[in-house]
Amino acid sequence: MPPPAIVLIEDDDAIATGLARVLDSQGYEVRRLSRGRPALTGLGPDVGLVVLDLGLPDVDGLDVCRHLRTAHPELAILILTARDQELDIVAGLDAGADDYLIKPFRLSELLARVRAHLRRIAAAEPRPEEALRAGSLTVDRAARRAWCGDDELALRPKEFDLLALLVAEAGRAVPRDRIMREVWDTEWTGSTKTLDTHVLALRAKLPEDAITTLRGVGYRLEAA
Ligand code: CA
Repeated sequence: MPPPAIVLIEDDDAIATGLARVLDSQGYEVRRLSRGRPALTGLGPDVGLVVLDLGLPDVDGLDVCRHLRTAHPELAILILTARDQELDIVAGLDAGADDYLIKPFRLSELLARVRAHLRRIAAAEPRPEEALRAGSLTVDRAARRAWCGDDELALRPKEFDLLALLVAEAGRAVPRDRIMREVWDTEWTGSTKTLDTHVLALRAKLPEDAITTLRGVGYRLEAA
């Protein structure tokens, strides 16, 4: 996933140009707006952070801030303004800003804050675990569900864990001791009758020849 884009709302062309150049050099995708109104009609879904000037020619930045906070609850808003009174700062934060930086500002500090906000956004984003796939088999470990084609498999808990491990390693040999360790949470001590029983039960629910026995080694789920 590409990093979230930054929208820079600033009517001072010198500041906007310089800032956009620096952010761009750091690898961020920056979009510039010299007025507030375009931001009221909506930002792209990929925008993660807005750097917002308050003294804008068409609308007050605080109104933009309030609107953005309501329209995009997850958005990080950093106010960058010459308004340096305590009341201004309070008003900015009350309008929904996450951060408030007063002009003139140190570039390194602004960049550090941008990094911090984007880090926070990245951490807050749910990252759905990719389902595991091998051939016609699909395993969703988060939901603890598995399918063969479109048919959901009815698996006992250990059968599920075993299948998830084999599918994750599809096409590769999985040694018995690793299976015992990861599925049964036990160090292998020789007898793996439990494992054999579960493989037998699992085989009955999977396409024929899905699991290959590797004598003296373990098992391999065929990838195709
Ligand atoms: Ca301004």
